[in-house]
Amino acid sequence: MADPLVPRMQGFGTTIFAEMSALAVATGSINLGQGFPDTDGPPAMLDAAVEAIRSGGNQYPPGPGVPELREAVAAQRLDRYGLEYDPATEVYVTVGATEGISAAVLALTGPGDEVIVFEPYYDSYAATIALAGAERRPVTLRPVEGRFTFDPDELRAAVGPRTRAILVNSPHNPAGTVFTRAEMEAIAAVCREHDLIAITDEVYEYLTFDGAEHIALATLEGMRERTVSVSSTGKTFSVTGWKTGWVTAPAEYVRAVQTVKQFTTYAVGGPWQRATAYALRNELPWVEDLRASLESKRDRLITGLEAAGFTTYRPQGTYFVQADIRPLGFTDGMELARALPEKVGVVAVPTQVFYDHAEAGAHFVRFAFCKKDEVIDEAAERLRRLG
Ligand code: PMP
Ligand code: GLN
Repeated sequence: MADPLVPRMQGFGTTIFAEMSALAVATGSINLGQGFPDTDGPPAMLDAAVEAIRSGGNQYPPGPGVPELREAVAAQRLDRYGLEYDPATEVYVTVGATEGISAAVLALTGPGDEVIVFEPYYDSYAATIALAGAERRPVTLRPVEGRFTFDPDELRAAVGPRTRAILVNSPHNPAGTVFTRAEMEAIAAVCREHDLIAITDEVYEYLTFDGAEHIALATLEGMRERTVSVSSTGKTFSVTGWKTGWVTAPAEYVRAVQTVKQFTTYAVGGPWQRATAYALRNELPWVEDLRASLESKRDRLITGLEAAGFTTYRPQGTYFVQADIRPLGFTDGMELARALPEKVGVVAVPTQVFYDHAEAGAHFVRFAFCKKDEVIDEAAERLRRLG
């Protein structure tokens, strides 16, 4: 039988996260591939979800999200970034950041439009842009003095008459870069000059290290009115399975997002929303402890990877370290990632799948450090056998 999949989704196959997590289960390996923590979120937030279920909050919530979450999100954007959003018209709750991004891309771009992404890019971006019928234009992040960054001239050169939007992820998965104010200003300048819409993916907004500050693009001059900001509960509160996210944007963009989102999922699970509202208001001190603990886990994994012979790039945020495999005599990260579980019982993700120019990322693999210390230590011990 011919493949029934629509042509624009051909080639997307199975996500690398699903493939590698299945491989981890099948081989009983330590999974440092898919980024999810192996410890739970704040106990009172978990209790709030249980309480929401037990107290009858189990029917359709309002499509835009429960008012208490929209208000908590608006308060968070104001407290943390000084950005004012009207909870009634400028905040919209989505099924994780993934749906926030896809609803924004589907609502705002279409055939004939180009969307700029920084590669390596989070895998859903390429699929979502394809689903919209738009085209992606990658700008490559390259290691410069130990951190992945872009050349502003390359960014400017990527903009053409058909460019409609730019997707900006900072802290950046999988590179680990937190864009500096100067980098964000360069992006903002291009957006203003060419009248682009910015869609920002800020899911790691709290998870930054070494004092690196997350700059919300919407705070820069002339950007609030053209930026659709996206974030979610999963990473901030260590509940990646809750799939509760939100979009904040000017009302006309939120209306556009709503038009799409109401027909993809209509609404988001009520108990998760109520518990997230509780957490945004009460659990930010817990998040600060998480951030500090991830910073030390990052250092722990880097020490282990270096001892095993990899060259590493010290991320300023996220869950992930990029490791260059060439010092160990390997050249193809895909081959190594597929062999690693058999060889030593550890799963990683080949970074090349996040590029259009796969050669730029061929020699990197991504390891996650959002794991218990003993898990990181055991993985490092096993990886030492590679040398
Ligand atoms: N963007 C990035 C950069 C991510 O790493 C992830 C994975 N958490 C997502 C979006 C998806 O977030 P969510 O699970 O809230 O849909
Ligand atoms: N964000 C997670 C990662 O980068 C994966 C989420 C997913 O499986 N789609 O590892």
